[in-house]
Amino acid sequence: MPVLVMKFGGTSVATLDRIRRAAKRVGVEVSKGYDVIVIVSAMSGKTNELVGWVNETSPLYDAREYDAVVSSGENVTAGLMALTLQEMDIPARSWQGWQVPVKTTAAHSSARIEEIPPANIMSKFGEGMKVAVVAGFQGVSPEGRITTLGRGGSDTTAVAFAAAFEAERCDIYTDVDGVYTTDPRVSAKARKLDKIAFEEMLELASLGAKVLQTRSVELAMRYKVKLRVLSSFEEQSDEAGTLVCDEEEIMESNVVSGIAFSRDEAKMTLVSVADRPGIAAAIFTALSEGGVNVDMIVQNISEEGRTDMTWSCPVDQTKRAEKAMDEAKAAGTINFNELIADTDVAKVSVVGIGMRSHTGVAAKMFQVLSNEGINIKVITTSEIKISVLIDRKYMELAVQALHDAFELDKAA
Ligand code: ASP
Ligand code: MG
Repeated sequence: MPVLVMKFGGTSVATLDRIRRAAKRVGVEVSKGYDVIVIVSAMSGKTNELVGWVNETSPLYDAREYDAVVSSGENVTAGLMALTLQEMDIPARSWQGWQVPVKTTAAHSSARIEEIPPANIMSKFGEGMKVAVVAGFQGVSPEGRITTLGRGGSDTTAVAFAAAFEAERCDIYTDVDGVYTTDPRVSAKARKLDKIAFEEMLELASLGAKVLQTRSVELAMRYKVKLRVLSSFEEQSDEAGTLVCDEEEIMESNVVSGIAFSRDEAKMTLVSVADRPGIAAAIFTALSEGGVNVDMIVQNISEEGRTDMTWSCPVDQTKRAEKAMDEAKAAGTINFNELIADTDVAKVSVVGIGMRSHTGVAAKMFQVLSNEGINIKVITTSEIKISVLIDRKYMELAVQALHDAFELDKAA
C-alpha cells in the first residue's frame, strides 16, 4: 500500500470537534487506499502552557525534565485521534516517539532526529492497521530519555516520517490555506502560491514566514519529500494548498516569488576596532559563544588601521551582544571605542529562484524603497534573495510597495 503522511497542527486539533473533523479527512485518504501516518501537534496553546509551568517551577530548569513535561501535549492528541478514528471503524493505533522509536540526539529541547526505523509501524500495517497516529515533536535520546525537537517541531517529525517511509506525499494541515507571496495581514494583495521551490520556501521560512519549521523544509529538500501545506478548515481537493517541491517541477514562476520580513531586528555597530587579521574571528566567536544569532554582517572601509563592524541580530539579543563585547574587551581579545545599538529596525527581503537568471531585481528593489523615501541601512544578498534593514516604522509600507512593484498579485 502507498503511504501518506498527514500532519495536523495545534489549531486543527484544538477541540474534540476539530479532531473529529481532521479524522474525517484521514478517513477520505484511507478510502483511497493509503496506509496513513498521522502526526499530531498538541492542542493549540497547550505547549505554551506547559512551558509556562516549567518556567514557573524552575527558572533554570533541567532540560531533560522540560522535555518530559513539554512533550506531553502531543501524547494526549495522539491518543484522542486514535480513539476518534476507531469510533469511525478505522483501525488505528497511537504511538509516542519512544515507541516507534524516533531516535534523536541528546540535545534536549532542540534535539535532531537521527533515525526512524519503519519496522514496528510497517508490521502493524501488515496486520491490517490503517492509520498510525504518532505524537509529533518528540523522540528518544541514546540514553533512553524523552527529547523534543524545538518549537514547531512536529512539522519536522512529519517530514522525517515521510522520508523514512518513502511516503507519496507529506500533507501539512494548518490554519492557513497555503503559502502566500507575503503575509496577507500586511498586504491585502497577497496571493496564495500553487507551488514553491524548496529553496524559496527555506528562505521564506527562515525569514519569518511561520508556516513551516525551517528544519522541516531542509529535510524535505534533502530527501525530496513532496510537501503540501493546506487548510484543515476547508473542503479539500487533491490540488488544494501549496506544494513545496523541486524547482524542476515548477514550469513558470515570477522572478520574485515572495516578500518576507522580520520585525524585531537590531543593528549593532562596533566603532573603531583594529583592522587586523583575526579581528572578525575574535568578534564573531565572542558573539556566538554569548548566544547571539548574527544575521547580516558588514565591515566598513577602514581608515588608519581602524574599521567599524556592523551586524544584525534579533532585538532581544542586544543585551547579550553588549555583554559579550564588554567581556571580550576586558579580556583584551578585542578593542573598540563604542558599541552602538539601533533597536528600531526591521528586515525586508525579496526571494525568488528567478533571480539566478534575471538581472535588475536589486536595482528595482532599491528604486521602489527610494520612491517611498525609505532609507536602507544594510544590504545583503544571496543567489536567490536580497535583504535590507530599514526603520521598523516603514516595514509595512516597504512590503506593500515591493509587492505591488514586482506584481506578485498576478501569477506568472
Ligand atoms: N506543540 C509544539 C509547539 O507548539 C510542536 C508543534 O506544534 O509543532 O511548538
Ligand atoms: Mg507549527
